[in-house]
Amino acid sequence: MKKILVTGGAGFIGSHLCERLLNEGNEVICLDNYFTGSKQNVVHLLDNPYFELIRHDVTEPFFIEVDEIYNLACPASPIHYQYNPIKTIKTSVMGAVNMLGLAKRIRAKILQASTSEVYGDPKIHPQTEDYWGHVNPIGLRSCYDEGKRCAESLFMNYHHQNNVRIKIIRIFNTYGTRMHPQDGRVVSNFIIQALHNEDITIYGDGHQTRSFQYVDDLIEGMTRMMATGDEFVGPVNIGNPKEFTIRELAEKIIELTGARSKLMFMPLPEDDPAQRQPDISLAKQELSGWEPRIHLEEGLLKTIAYFKQLQNL
Ligand code: NAD
Ligand code: UDP
Repeated sequence: MKKILVTGGAGFIGSHLCERLLNEGNEVICLDNYFTGSKQNVVHLLDNPYFELIRHDVTEPFFIEVDEIYNLACPASPIHYQYNPIKTIKTSVMGAVNMLGLAKRIRAKILQASTSEVYGDPKIHPQTEDYWGHVNPIGLRSCYDEGKRCAESLFMNYHHQNNVRIKIIRIFNTYGTRMHPQDGRVVSNFIIQALHNEDITIYGDGHQTRSFQYVDDLIEGMTRMMATGDEFVGPVNIGNPKEFTIRELAEKIIELTGARSKLMFMPLPEDDPAQRQPDISLAKQELSGWEPRIHLEEGLLKTIAYFKQLQNL
């Protein structure tokens, strides 16, 4: 049995990760300040004597003895990370410093939940890990993008300078049960709108693309990455390479929900990336043939069922 710390463990992805790690027989300490996560996401785990929930902000140091750390604490949706951009940068950067300092001191292995946003509005398609990205350093999204880029740099520097055992994964758009209903991300927005037969809010002309990964596939990739030997640190892309336009996503959700919703076109937010698709060759090679298994339709049906129940529909 390993002792594992999950920062941001009460969030959408973190709660699935805590559940998976407990099911594998580990002891899990979930640390969260509940900015975008909630106790509700992990309430079903509270009866497990090997699960511990701690309210703490990663911008403050934290001390504990563990074998592994998954560093997920950071708001991930544009609405939430732009709400208090200074705090978002502090969470990414000071959170990384605090968790890396802890990993160094207790000799734990540490994994950073980085993001496809480090590629910005990419000029290389699909994105490979050796692409340095195209990020506006002073735009609305920069608090998140640059915070995550700085965190990657910190991880690499702690690795080279202090031999900390690090892992970096770059997560591409992930969706699934326990997404925050008000976080404004495209999958949750469209499903909730469709379930109420409201217009579907497409930003821009809907030709921009994203590649959507169901959360279970991400958790599998994440845990496989943590289990790799110390010599492989990443960064490695974890995402579903099947790319869709936002308009196609809207049409698919209308079809699956049987909604009477119409498409409504709204202004495109600043610096909204035009396309995004992971090249997952490295993940396949290093993570024992890992690749996403859940098709968009299957994942959307599970997510639709979740929101239906959440909204008593
Ligand atoms: P989320 O907002 O549901 O989860 C983030 C969690 O971190 C929340 O529980 C929140 O309360 C907590 N948190 C935020 N600031 C904190 C702080 N200062 N101290 C302690 N806890 C704090 O988002 P998510 O989608 O579950 O994302 C989890 C991680 O994965 C994030 O680091 C995010 O950047 C990364 N990621 C997610 C996606 C995606 O598509 N969901 C894509 C790329 C990267
Ligand atoms: N989007 C949209 N309507 C919405 C929410 C988002 O058209 O109600 C678009 C958004 O402009 C972006 C894409 O969907 O092009 C994905 O947005 P999301 O916020 O989910 O993720 P990110 O932009 O961080 O990839």
